[in-house]
Parts: sequence; C-alpha cells; structure tokens
Amino acid sequence: MSENHPDARRRLLLGGTVASGLAAAIGATAARADEAATAPVTRDPNITTAYPRPPFPEQSQPWPGLTGKMVPRPDHGETSYKGSGRLAGRKALVTGGDSGIGRAAVIAFAREGADVAFNYLPAEEADAQEVVKLIEDAGRKAYPLPGDLRSADFCRQLVADAVQKLGGLDILVSNAAMQHAAPSILDISDQQFDDTFKCNVYALFHLSKAALPHLRPGASIIATSSVNAYDPGEGIIDYAATKAAIANFCKGLAKQVAAKGIRVNAVAPGPFWTPLQVTGGQPTAKLPTFGADTPIGRPGQPAELAPVYVLLASDEGSYITGQVYGAVGGHGGP
Ligand code: NAD
Ligand code: MG
Repeated sequence: MSENHPDARRRLLLGGTVASGLAAAIGATAARADEAATAPVTRDPNITTAYPRPPFPEQSQPWPGLTGKMVPRPDHGETSYKGSGRLAGRKALVTGGDSGIGRAAVIAFAREGADVAFNYLPAEEADAQEVVKLIEDAGRKAYPLPGDLRSADFCRQLVADAVQKLGGLDILVSNAAMQHAAPSILDISDQQFDDTFKCNVYALFHLSKAALPHLRPGASIIATSSVNAYDPGEGIIDYAATKAAIANFCKGLAKQVAAKGIRVNAVAPGPFWTPLQVTGGQPTAKLPTFGADTPIGRPGQPAELAPVYVLLASDEGSYITGQVYGAVGGHGGP
C-alpha cells in the first residue's frame, strides 16, 4: 500500500506518529484551504444568469465531437474551480474525461489533490490534450488512456493500465455514454441499441468488476446516470433505458460492497451543455432552446456538477452510498 493511500495516511494520523514534515504539509493544505474559502466570489450569484441562457446557435458536429467547436464553449471550471485538498493523494480513473461533465470532474479532482487517469475515444485526442495540461497545471499526474469502452477486453485493460500507472485506485467514475436521438423505435438500429448498452451499461459492469479487487475502504465508485432514468425522453428511449439500468446497478452494488467500506453512487443530470448534445444526442432543431424548459431557464454547465462528484468521491460523503444525486435545473428526480 503506498504512503499516499488514504488508509495509510489515516493510520499515520490515528497512530499519533505524525512526522513534522507531514504536519507542515497539512498546515500548508489548511492555509490553501483558508485562502480558497475566503477568495472573493467573482461569478454572478444569480443562478438564472450565472451562465449562458438560450437561445443558442443551431449547430452540429460529427460524433463524438470536440469542446472547442461548441458555441458557446462549455465551462468546466477551468477558471473557477478552487480545490481545498479534499482528495489529497487519491488516484482516480474517469471515463469520458476529455470533455463535458467528465472533464469538469477531472479538473476538480486534480485541484483537490488527486492524480487522474482518464479514458476517451481516439478522435477526441485534441480535447484529451487540453485535459492533460489542466491536470498537470494543478500539480498532479495525468494519464490519458484512449480506447473504446464497447469492448469488454478494453474495459479490463483500462482498469489494469490505470492501476499500474497510478499505483492503485481509489475512485472510479464511469461517465462515458452514447446517446443518439431517434424519433421512433423503428429508427433505432440493432447496432445502435447494442452500442448504447455496451458503452453505457456493460462498461460500468466490466469496469466495476475489474476495479473492485483494487479498491480499499474509503474508495468510491460513481456512475453518471440521467434524469432520463426516471422520465425517459421519447426520442432517446434506448439511452434512457441504459440510464435507468445504471442507477439501479449502483444502488444494488452499493449494498453489496458497503461492508468493504466502499461507496457507490450515481449522478443524474438534467440538460447540460456538452458535445454529447450537439453530436446527435438531441435533434439539431432543439438545440437553440436547450434547457429553456427548466425552472432555472437554462442548461447546466459541466462546472456546476463538479462539486457533486467531489463530494461523492471524498471522505466527506462517508454516509452517502446507494444514492442517485440529481441536478436537473429545478425539476426531475425520482
Ligand atoms: P460528452 O460528450 O462530453 O462526454 C461523453 C464522453 O463519452 C465522450 O467525451 C467520449 O469520450 C465518451 N464515449 C462515448 N462513447 C464512447 C465509447 N464507445 N468508448 C469510450 N468512450 C466513449 O458529454 P457529457 O454530456 O458530458 O456526457 C457525460 C455523461 O453525462 C454521460 O454519461 C451522459 O449520459 C451524462 N448525461 C449528460 C447529460 C447532458 O445533458 N449533457 C444529461 C444527463 C446525463
Ligand atoms: Mg468528448
């Protein structure tokens, strides 16, 4: 077990053998935390106007899409997320970490002190390289691990590679997904149905199964579900069914591994401004009003979800397991 593993650090602290170097490091972290806590809030505190509101320009990109081509460009917390050492020394693997909600989680994890391995598709290398820089700028180690999660073998290899590079694993975020809107069940090909389940559900199973033997007490598995788990959109019924399966799987697995000290939760977002939506996730004609029908009146930005992933990954979430955490702009939920 590495010295940085949370268990090892906990034992050091509890055993009363805190070396002066460690005490100094904790002091420095506390000082940084104080700074972060007292820094002036520069963002608009009004939730309705804090981020871009519809109408948005009509746009589309070939799947899987790139962040830099979106108008407006999504906010992943690049200039706003402030860490306070909540994941110091942790080792995280995040799928779909190149863009959108996964990128926001990766930035936050790194700024909270975690080293991060992340997965993406080879076509997303440009986004991935931006994320590598963001992790390294936070002073943490970055391991980009491209590949296709529809393959069970690849899922197993991904976990093995992440464990080897990171030197262990404390946090698994199964976040990647495929979503292709189709107005009728008659428009959903067998291939699309298969791909959507393989990427969204099977990968969660294979990744969790491969990760479990490496996880120690204090570890956390987080999967990205969706409001569609409870309230399926009529134009994305295959995707919605995968999101229901994900939420259900997390609740069941949480019961199974709680006694090992491992937590499992899902996050269920509503409309968030990410490449998924402009690459066929929504009909193009619906994008200008994306998020307009929420009580807040706009879509969420990935940055607004990062604190949820941090909470679920950190020791502060110690009694939160088997839950589905919603963020739907004012409605939705079970
Ligand atoms: P995104 O496009 O930024 O992220 C999805 C990622 O999935 C891609 O970056 C890609 O790397 C990965 N991916 C897709 N197919 C893959 C495959 N076969 N193999 C490996 N990786 C693959 O979009 P996002 O909205 O940030 O999506 C992240 C998660 O959030 C998804 O689970 C999505 O279902 C969920 N979600 C999004 C919204 C929303 O409105 N954006 C709402 C609810 C849930
Ligand atoms: Mg992407």
